[in-house]
Amino acid sequence: MRILVTGGAGYIGSVVTEELLSDGHTVVVYDNLSKGHRASISHSTEFVHADLTDAETLGQTFAQHEIEAVVHMAADSLVGESVENPARYYQNNLVAGLCLLNAMRAAGVQHIVFSSTAATYGEPEEQPIAETAPNNPTNPYGASKLAFEHALRWYDKAYDLRYASLRYFNAAGASERCGESHDPETHLIPIALQAAAGSRTHVEIYGDDYPTPDGTCVRDYVHVIDLARAHILALGALDQGSRIYNLGCGGAGYSVREVIQAARRITGRPIPERVGPRRPGDPAILVASADKIKRELGWNPALQDLEVIIESAWRWMLTNPNGYHGT
Ligand code: UDP
Repeated sequence: MRILVTGGAGYIGSVVTEELLSDGHTVVVYDNLSKGHRASISHSTEFVHADLTDAETLGQTFAQHEIEAVVHMAADSLVGESVENPARYYQNNLVAGLCLLNAMRAAGVQHIVFSSTAATYGEPEEQPIAETAPNNPTNPYGASKLAFEHALRWYDKAYDLRYASLRYFNAAGASERCGESHDPETHLIPIALQAAAGSRTHVEIYGDDYPTPDGTCVRDYVHVIDLARAHILALGALDQGSRIYNLGCGGAGYSVREVIQAARRITGRPIPERVGPRRPGDPAILVASADKIKRELGWNPALQDLEVIIESAWRWMLTNPNGYHGT
């Protein structure tokens, strides 16, 4: 299939692109490079450097490349930033997304896989979280993603748009070529590895007074390659109707302290930690039930071991000490 990947220059988008290419699809990456990196884009794709709100370029892209389906990953995705700047999140995650849906309608493209988030659930009463749990986002990031999911539902009913909304838990790890490189970095695993590499002095733990076994937040880390494989499966199932899936590994999840400890084991280096205040908008625990996608699509997160995830991220960091900068 000919697939438009919005946000294909980003961390997860670049790995999804790799998996789509290895599955034999033709990929057009559409990215404004606000967060993504040109160097992460495979040479086997066409690249369109533009914003989703640029209706003319977007329309031309659909027509010129005869796009048949969309994987929509272009978004802002930082909880803390979204609390400080909700306008940015509603603009980039909702308004720009609606521009994409309108361009799809104009081009007659009916299939979309959407990068959603566990942040749509907020602070659920039950863990692990099933897709049927109520949605009560505690931050504008989750709220803006949920708003777009609602649009998808109504576009499905009215215009026969078929969507798969994939609610990511914590994407982590790296492929051989593509890894996580944000500036500034805010995610726990790369931050812990930067501390191991000596490019930062310590990891600040955002609160150790949560109602969790060791007081630090618990998350469900999923290898970015496993996550990417789920997009291929979801794309192949759209003919049979729209659906929403959690993408996490389930189990008990890992606390911030457990992640730092695992990073010490993998790197063999000291990683100093300090406890700081809570980060606004952070739920105490987010752990998925991924039974639905495993049952319905046969998804198998084969790389779910936390040490395998951290090891891949560490290898990528050692090979790319400056991330994508200078490549
Ligand atoms: N975290 C932390 N220190 C950091 C970065 C993150 O304690 O420097 C915590 C954060 O509060 C959350 C968990 O690590 O509980 C994972 O955060 P991350 O930003 O990696 O992903 P998120 O859960 O926000 O998607």
